Amino acid sequence: MSSSPVRPSEDGPAAAARGLLFVVSAPSGTGKTTVVERLVQCVPDLALSRSFTSRTARPGEIDSIDYNFITRERFETMVRTGAFLEWADVFGNYYGTSAADTERELSTGHDLVLVIDVQGARQVRSRCTGTVGVFVLPPSFPVLEQRLRGRSKDSEEAIERRLETARAEIAAFSEYDYLVVNDELGACVDRLKAIVLAERARLRSMRRLAEEIVQTFTRKETHGR
Ligand code: 5GP
Repeated sequence: MSSSPVRPSEDGPAAAARGLLFVVSAPSGTGKTTVVERLVQCVPDLALSRSFTSRTARPGEIDSIDYNFITRERFETMVRTGAFLEWADVFGNYYGTSAADTERELSTGHDLVLVIDVQGARQVRSRCTGTVGVFVLPPSFPVLEQRLRGRSKDSEEAIERRLETARAEIAAFSEYDYLVVNDELGACVDRLKAIVLAERARLRSMRRLAEEIVQTFTRKETHGR
């Protein structure tokens, strides 16, 4: 008997060991990247998807670690060839999730987190049944504004644009399965961890393992009798 949980899906035995797909969205400045990086460090067997983007790397960002940084031309070619599970134009740059990378993780039974915007999350939900959506909310608009200005990575114009986008994005919270407020980093990570563990304990995730356990109750034991 396998000791690790295997997760049958409604699609039948061929898809039995697929991993869970989590999508996390939040307005820019909410701290979702930091929160999710902490999450994958403290939850075993949970990987963070690496997106492709056409934006240039910020100081300190490393290609193939923070993002796969590519040109607009290469991104557009990948769109044409259907290489993306989802993609979106965010703040004038392209961002996308590789369909092949995602499929490889899920089909080998690994749970995966995508940190993507609300447009991308809609595409993933419509394509992948069983996607678990988590929306991270800032405690308030003034706190978000303070955080965006505090990190001072962007120009005033870019900050204004991010705040405007935040107003629009926050309205999408009701499309998600779970809501988490990032009031304090550690507490926010704990809430996300609880969501992942709860999803792993659902009937659809645990059925195969439970059936294997139940079988040990019905099997005729020969030893010692
Ligand atoms: P940033 O440039 O600050 O790293 O990210 C800007 C926005 O793009 C964030 O809201 C982030 O979640 C989103 N984003 C990052 N990767 C992807 C992706 O692969 N797909 C989509 N749709 N959005 C992404």
